[in-house]
Amino acid sequence: MLGVSKTATDDEIKKAYRKIAIKYHPDRNPGNAEAEEKFKEAAEAYDVLHDPQKRQQYDQFGFDAPGGGFGGGGFGGGGFSMDDIFSMFGDVFGGHGGFGGFGGGFGGGQRQKPQYRGADLRIKVALTLEEIATGTTKKFKVKKDVTCTHCKGTGAEGGSGSETCPTCHGSGVVTRTVRTMLGMMQTQSECPTCNGEGTIIKNKCKECGGSGVVKGEEVVEIKIPAGVAEGMVVNVPGKGNAGQHNGITGNIQVYITELPNDTFVRDGNDLIYNLLLDFPTAVLGDSVEIPTIDGGKVKIKIEPGTQPGKTLRLRGKGLPAVEGYGSGKGDLVVNISVYVPKELSRDEKKAIESFKNSDNFKGDKETKKSIFDRFKNYFN
Ligand SMILES: [Zn+2]
Ligand SMILES: [Zn+2]
Repeated sequence: MLGVSKTATDDEIKKAYRKIAIKYHPDRNPGNAEAEEKFKEAAEAYDVLHDPQKRQQYDQFGFDAPGGGFGGGGFGGGGFSMDDIFSMFGDVFGGHGGFGGFGGGFGGGQRQKPQYRGADLRIKVALTLEEIATGTTKKFKVKKDVTCTHCKGTGAEGGSGSETCPTCHGSGVVTRTVRTMLGMMQTQSECPTCNGEGTIIKNKCKECGGSGVVKGEEVVEIKIPAGVAEGMVVNVPGKGNAGQHNGITGNIQVYITELPNDTFVRDGNDLIYNLLLDFPTAVLGDSVEIPTIDGGKVKIKIEPGTQPGKTLRLRGKGLPAVEGYGSGKGDLVVNISVYVPKELSRDEKKAIESFKNSDNFKGDKETKKSIFDRFKNYFN
């Protein structure tokens, strides 16, 4: 639909979508059902591709993804309405805060009644590494502006309705003539009486004072994709403050923080596990169990004569990439160190002392070998 390749970057996708959205925009194609359909399809395609999780699903399964797929109402049942399209992709259309939508429309068409947009909410969430590994769903009780039930968001008391604004006579703008050095100039600005709506409420709702929104509380469930990291922001469209006068609902922005983990240290998508071997195991070799982030265990083989500082890499046992595609999962990196006993019984001490003169316990051989190797390479 967007005409982009499988490897397209977010920026390319955004550009392609913007182009199509402008071409098929309903303002440009009044009464053209086909154009409207194309406009909606492009929005759905964009929604899939700019959301890392949905894109991964799409890359894997195409539009017939499990759980309803994407086509025909895969999102929350019933597909997109035009309002969704404008409110969801504020970043594409550049309509953040204040009034949403396309502003003055295209090619100097007639003025659209502006819509209020509710402010975005910011939430901080602290996640464990285990939650990050699998992705998680969090419930929040958020205080926010909700649509006033008394007036159903209209702001008018008892269905009294609204009347044409006496200041701007319904146009939503006021024109001022100002004298400048270049002569008389006309400037247009938003009508201060009706905030550009063109109408005012005759009898204001006694619950919300005419704004159409009241302070309220809502329990919001937010899905956090796997692989997120400290400092990332997950945007949840349409869950923020309600817009005045049944306007556009803002978003919730979820700021991710990471809780420290007792077992693993995160390094990008790799997890680091510090394994402290006892001396006999390092010398004789054995198989050892290592914990994994999913709560399981994995057996690794310790070769006889394993040196401290050795690292083992268990492919794909780390964290998933947040995009979920391309680079795939990180690794579990096992850093090996060897515990040197600090306290010994008399017998143990004797036994160790007996090794003291053995060449096998001296590092000389290794050192000599590595010097020899260096020379060999030098002359070859
Ligand atoms: Zn009200
Ligand atoms: Zn006005």
